[in-house]
Amino acid sequence: MEDGTELRFDHGAPYFTVSNDEVARVVSGWEARGLVAEWKAMFACFDREAGKFTDFEKEGTIKKYVGVPGMNSICKSLCLEDGVVAKFGVTIGRMDWIQDRSSWLLASLDGRDLGHFDYVVATDKNIASPRFSGLTGRPPPLDLSLLPQLSMMIQDIPVRPCFALMLAFSEPLTKVPVQGFSFNNSDYLSWAFCDSSKPGRAHVPLNSQSWVLHSTAEYASKVINNIGPRKPSADALAKVAEELLKEFQATGLNIPQPIFMKAHRWGSAFPAIAISGDDKCVWDKSMKLAICGDFCTSPSVEGAVLSGMRGASKILWCLNFPSGL
Ligand SMILES: Cc1cc2nc3c(=O)[nH]c(=O)nc-3n(C[C@H](O)[C@H](O)[C@H](O)COP(=O)(O)OP(=O)(O)OC[C@H]3O[C@@H](n4cnc5c(N)ncnc54)[C@H](O)[C@@H]3O)c2cc1C
Repeated sequence: MEDGTELRFDHGAPYFTVSNDEVARVVSGWEARGLVAEWKAMFACFDREAGKFTDFEKEGTIKKYVGVPGMNSICKSLCLEDGVVAKFGVTIGRMDWIQDRSSWLLASLDGRDLGHFDYVVATDKNIASPRFSGLTGRPPPLDLSLLPQLSMMIQDIPVRPCFALMLAFSEPLTKVPVQGFSFNNSDYLSWAFCDSSKPGRAHVPLNSQSWVLHSTAEYASKVINNIGPRKPSADALAKVAEELLKEFQATGLNIPQPIFMKAHRWGSAFPAIAISGDDKCVWDKSMKLAICGDFCTSPSVEGAVLSGMRGASKILWCLNFPSGL
């Protein structure tokens, strides 16, 4: 905030659930290490036309997990595993397959050589999509003429965008009886989550409450069609913030002016399809390339974890049996 107070929000996935046994085993390991915890939140639906809450879901109906102290705790801990060297602030701009070295040569968006790699796990749904060019002005990193058999699958995965609005209030929203709610009959908002009600979140400033709102995909598409695919300007984001706040306040739930608000655009928030079926990832053994992510399975943290596990098992198999038993 302007006075130097630091606020933290989960501006992406607010929480996740688990139904797959393989993922459940991994998540209980994270829970035992304190990386994730159950969010005992009550959810409901708010009907914007009727002006009331419906469909109260009882606490515990489905276990909701959150990272502690933030959703990024899981990725942070993976970066600290033995032997992992994590580099931040580098976008892969180009991947060249060097046949005689049987390795990938990677380069950053600004053309810097990042070295040779025996295996690559690519997690960007736009890795071969014109959307990458719309955003960066550069060709997408993966040249699909190298892997023609994959082109139908990965060249233009349809996505649904979303704007997230981070809000802090100096006092709790006492008229809201739940910690999360979806919207019915709103053209602007799809979800609202009380971020500060999650376990392990510091309430800064004291007694304040923070919320994250998600726009509808239709609203986000309309805005992005108007402003174009490039990073939105501060003015464009401020306008989105005003519009989403106005809709939140129009609920009649006594929503005061926030002490902080900031909008974030997720241009490719949710894949609209799953490209890998039962394989759960795209794997090319000859080029030692795994393409993993929620777009391979389902648009969720659980889907991304499962896809990553499948990609890892393909690579482990090749490392254990290099001659390909
Ligand atoms: C607003 C919102 C709400 C959501 N709500 C939920 C929810 O309630 N429950 C749930 O389970 N899931 C939810 N999700 C979905 C969940 O966040 C995703 O399914 C999950 O993060 C996908 O993981 P991933 O690893 O496939 O992709 P990502 O999380 O997108 O990770 C891909 C990574 O690759 C990096 N990357 C991409 N391109 C490059 C490049 N060229 N060079 C270098 N790095 C690159 C990115 O920076 C990123 O770190 C939500 C997502 C959003 C945006």
